[in-house]
Amino acid sequence: MADFKVTQIDDDFDFANLPWWDVVIIGAGPAGLAASLTTAHRALTTLVIEAKDLPGGQPQFLYGDKNIVDVPGFPDGISGQELSDRTYRQATDAHVQFRFNEELTAIEDTDQEVEGDVLKKVVTSNGNYLCRKVILACGLLHYPRRLPVLDDLESDAVHYRSPRIKDYEGSTVIVVGGGDSALDAAVMALQRGARVEVIIRKEPSGKADTLNHVLELGGTVHTSASITEATMNVGVISAMLDNGSTIECQHAIVQIGFLSAKDTFLGLGLTLNDGGAVAIDPYFETSRRGIFAVGDVHGDIKLIAVAWAEGIQAAIHAFREITSPFWLNEKRLHDNKLSLIAERLSAAAMQKRK
Ligand SMILES: Cc1cc2nc3c(=O)[nH]c(=O)nc-3n(C[C@H](O)[C@H](O)[C@H](O)COP(=O)(O)OP(=O)(O)OC[C@H]3O[C@@H](n4cnc5c(N)ncnc54)[C@H](O)[C@@H]3O)c2cc1C
Repeated sequence: MADFKVTQIDDDFDFANLPWWDVVIIGAGPAGLAASLTTAHRALTTLVIEAKDLPGGQPQFLYGDKNIVDVPGFPDGISGQELSDRTYRQATDAHVQFRFNEELTAIEDTDQEVEGDVLKKVVTSNGNYLCRKVILACGLLHYPRRLPVLDDLESDAVHYRSPRIKDYEGSTVIVVGGGDSALDAAVMALQRGARVEVIIRKEPSGKADTLNHVLELGGTVHTSASITEATMNVGVISAMLDNGSTIECQHAIVQIGFLSAKDTFLGLGLTLNDGGAVAIDPYFETSRRGIFAVGDVHGDIKLIAVAWAEGIQAAIHAFREITSPFWLNEKRLHDNKLSLIAERLSAAAMQKRK
């Protein structure tokens, strides 16, 4: 039997006047959403701060249309968008509160203490929030690297995430990049009936299977090639390559990696490991007590199910620390002893009065 009731927090709970939150979670990707519904299911007041305007993280923003087939429980697969929407609904049903378009900038220690926890002040681009525990679930690689030669077109036909299905039909799409994300995007566009030209600066670095799939579906791959110039005319992008050829297309999908979030982590005063990710202990706690890190933000294995599992584990460790921190057993004994003494004293006083 479950050790908790799923609807722990009342529908009319007044979140507006909370003096502090039990848990503030940074990032509404798979790790943050799983962590949030786990803490809320255990009656902890939970706030999620998300930099973007929608929940879901990478599955929502980078591959919303992809049929994800390696998530347990979905034998026929599920799209990134649907998976994100479902997890978000589960979190809001549990009364997790969300702030979108708001970005974490700092986490400060305060001099306020609640039951042994020094409250933290989470500072964001829009305000600040006091809380007992923080769970960082903001992914390791947040902002896509941009390609200035295409950015200069200032066109909404240049995408840094795969556009939705309807956008591809009957069009030519160039995909820039040779990693897994780029090859995945090429497959998606091909499966939606687009002609696809993949432009790779060096050699492909993504999975050989996916590359073969691109070729089998009729995609063209240009290696050791980059775009030197681009123009836009009546909805058509002309991209000139350094090998002298020109490709005309209706869409350009750029997947050339992400900017590292290392500076953000260093600014938070966290110890990083050799790879520049946040270092954690076996309880997912970082070098700063009360701040946990889960999912891609520290992770070695970057998968949705792993991000979920870590989010859930950190949430339970945070819950345990809040409900029975390391000093609680001793303190409980001490409190019990005091109340016993108080009871005896008052009983003795009553006797005396009689
Ligand atoms: C193209 C591609 C295909 C993939 N396919 C699969 C697949 O088929 N199956 C699979 O299991 N995994 C897949 N993955 C990996 C999977 O998506 C990630 O492992 C997973 O999304 C990690 O979840 P996360 O919550 O840790 O991070 P993210 O999904 O990156 O979510 C982090 C969230 O934090 C927010 N954030 C970041 N910084 C801040 C800040 N300072 N303040 C507030 N919010 C912030 C971000 O906006 C984002 O919403 C794929 C990844 C890519 C790129």
